[in-house]
Amino acid sequence: VLRMRGVTKRFGSHAALDGIDLDVAEGEVVVVIGPSGSGKSTLVRCAHQLESIDGGAMYLDGELLGHEEHRGGLRALSPAGAAAQRRKVGMVFQQFNLFPHFSVLRNVTEAPRRVHGRDRADAERDATALLERVGLGEKLHDYPRRLSGGQQQRVAIARALATRPRIMLFDEPTSALDPELVDEVLGVLRGLAGDGLTMVVVTHEMNFAREIADRCVFMEAGRIVESGPPADMFGAPKSPRLRAFLSRHH
Ligand code: ATP
Ligand code: MG
Repeated sequence: VLRMRGVTKRFGSHAALDGIDLDVAEGEVVVVIGPSGSGKSTLVRCAHQLESIDGGAMYLDGELLGHEEHRGGLRALSPAGAAAQRRKVGMVFQQFNLFPHFSVLRNVTEAPRRVHGRDRADAERDATALLERVGLGEKLHDYPRRLSGGQQQRVAIARALATRPRIMLFDEPTSALDPELVDEVLGVLRGLAGDGLTMVVVTHEMNFAREIADRCVFMEAGRIVESGPPADMFGAPKSPRLRAFLSRHH
């Protein structure tokens, strides 16, 4: 579904991503771990085209992201073209960023109605089903400020799913939550993984990473240092850096 080849991203002279090769297959759950500043957020932000890349290439279902063929070369996509690609990628952030003045239901129907031109009844039916799936069937008409952090994050997940993305990217979806609210959000992610959704999850929750990942990727200093099945990564880490990281996070 998603393919990254030699992706680099610089901020000034600092390489936040330094030659990333990553493939995410249909239905696969890839979990990204690594120390603070290793480039995890930059990786998912680039995949969502929130950041432009300085080198390499990314493909979604074989289609080049961000650029198109033009007279035998490549040129940057128009904003509309980039927006169309971006809609095929769902993203959930650490901060939920809900629309505060919209009800829960409208938070979820807004993009399908505005961007995809879905009719209201249709969009509301789908949104209701999604909100039931994340356990919020009772909260359709509440406003975000009346919800707990865990509930708000579940609305954000339903909202990202509403445009039926090909892949979902989660950047530390539980790290802004009080500890007692973490499990309800992880439970939703578990459910989505079980339903076969293609996902990339950045997390510091090592037990969860181990449990949910089909494949785990360890980043350091903008590079993928080690990747593989979680049983190998957590059970028999090869690189000393991963070993040191895991010993700090247990
Ligand atoms: P954390 O676990 O703390 O979220 P991370 O792995 O997500 O860390 P990134 O946020 O991707 O790390 O940052 C990677 C590097 O790029 C860091 O050195 C960071 O300071 C730098 N960086 C990220 N965003 C910017 C920006 N907008 N401008 C300048 N530097 C940035
Ligand atoms: Mg980050």
